[in-house]
Amino acid sequence: MYHILIRLTTGFYFFSYHMEHIKDGISGRELFQSREGLTYKDFLTLPGYIDFVPDEVSLQTKISKNIQIHIPVISSPMDTVTEHKMAIGLALIGGIGIIHSNNTIEDQAREVERVKRFENGFIHDPILLSPENTILDILTVKGKFGFSGIPITEDGTMKTRLVGIVTNRDIDFEKDKKKKIKDVMSTQLITAEQGVSLAKANDILKDSKKGKLPIVDKNGLLVSLMCRSDLIKNKEYPLSSKDNSKSLLAGAAVSTHPGDRDRVEALVEKGVDLLVIDSAQGYSSYQLEFIKTLKKKYPAIDIMAGNIVTSQQALALIEAGADSLRIGMGPGSICITQDTMACGRAQASAVYHTALIARKHNVPVIADGGITNIGDITKALAIGAASVMVGSLLAGTQEAPGEYFYENGVRLKRYRGMASLEAMEAGGAKRYFADDQKIRVAQGVSGTVMDKGTIFDFLPYLVQGVKHSFQDMGIKNITKLHEELYSENLRFERRSLAAQVQGGVHNLYSFKKPIIGTE
Ligand code: GDP
Ligand code: 5GP
Repeated sequence: MYHILIRLTTGFYFFSYHMEHIKDGISGRELFQSREGLTYKDFLTLPGYIDFVPDEVSLQTKISKNIQIHIPVISSPMDTVTEHKMAIGLALIGGIGIIHSNNTIEDQAREVERVKRFENGFIHDPILLSPENTILDILTVKGKFGFSGIPITEDGTMKTRLVGIVTNRDIDFEKDKKKKIKDVMSTQLITAEQGVSLAKANDILKDSKKGKLPIVDKNGLLVSLMCRSDLIKNKEYPLSSKDNSKSLLAGAAVSTHPGDRDRVEALVEKGVDLLVIDSAQGYSSYQLEFIKTLKKKYPAIDIMAGNIVTSQQALALIEAGADSLRIGMGPGSICITQDTMACGRAQASAVYHTALIARKHNVPVIADGGITNIGDITKALAIGAASVMVGSLLAGTQEAPGEYFYENGVRLKRYRGMASLEAMEAGGAKRYFADDQKIRVAQGVSGTVMDKGTIFDFLPYLVQGVKHSFQDMGIKNITKLHEELYSENLRFERRSLAAQVQGGVHNLYSFKKPIIGTE
């Protein structure tokens, strides 16, 4: 009996000893001990134990000391990536967009305002006409914007009372195109009061059987408009990124250039939540001073500083007061910095080393640039990033600025580096300390990306993919992922070139690419 007990206990001990000590692969620390710069392609994470479904994974993350979002995706402040449409869409889904600053102060402030004023389903700046306009004016609006349901106010602006509405049905059979709107408009209006909830306004719109629902304040001034044709789109977005007063979160880029002090003021006035100091090399006296000034003047607004790639740079920006760090020098898809300037760092090494030091100060790091697929997002998070920042990944979506066009039958959008000669001409040189230089050296290129449809389909696809890879690692959330990284339970493996080839599609005559996943 005694003999059996000894055998059982030693057997169990032996078994658990082995479970504890059998650790394949290497830790993050060992992976990045190598003096060679590593990129996302150079390694894989090893699988963990699965006892949950992907839907149980939460991707909630802190992207700065005070800002938390549900989806670890931030759109780059680039003029072919983020204006209000991208920022609104991304914030609705759970990420955040950073409005670029390759525009006038007024333009950028207006973009931020559009995000902050956005209410899902409500059009806050509808096209209006006055009773003195004519049917011809309605047809012009229809030709230009594609809709004909137009609220009519006393003087055709939001400053005067709503007096009627015209729709297609009011003008369908009118032959005299010079007829004034006051003679054709409907004046029996069904309206809703300012402050009405989305659900309630949807119900009123459904019950009224009308095409439009004007929302008015107590003085009869038009506040916004809802369209029946948008009813299906007027969904609630439970993960949306919002501030305390329920407005969507908006970030905006500013440079360290003295001229941008006024820019900051204009953005703050419009309610910007996150200021991103947009500099290709953020370890500069200009940026350190700027961070200190901003933190003193606007303590409530979080500052994402950067870009940086080394621990020394990270520490300096943290000590100056940065609430978040943007990591990357040269990994971007449109970027030629590393070749041109001979300066930069392989992105995975940059993220790991900066995250390691920033963690000690509770400052999140953002992996900016070089994200090409779902796996890259997971890898960036697995080596310490709180979120990724992406340009090319979102540049071909409907919400990115710019028109689609066809080349060889493929539907494309333009995507350009902010240090491409083209973008610098348009004002983007501030980021590269080059705006007052007579000769500007390009650190980026201008190109095209394929149509990726709307981010309302594309982002959920990415998110689901990342949740699956968390499941493979046996990890349910980003906090746990980082704990496992630093406790060295999360295991990695370097990939030989042959392993990289084998990990991609191979030995096929042809295959159909998914939206994203293969280069
Ligand atoms: P209409 O009946 O001809 O006005 O057109 P629909 O209601 O079928 O479609 C109008 C679409 O344009 C909806 O998706 C609206 O959200 C969108 N839209 C954007 N801005 C405006 C605007 O200022 N006025 C109107 N009427 N629609 C707008
Ligand atoms: P992507 O997601 O396309 O790989 O990279 C986007 C990132 O590249 C941006 O967030 C920004 O940090 C960086 N970037 C944007 N334009 C340029 C450029 O012209 N040159 C360089 N070096 N980097 C750029």
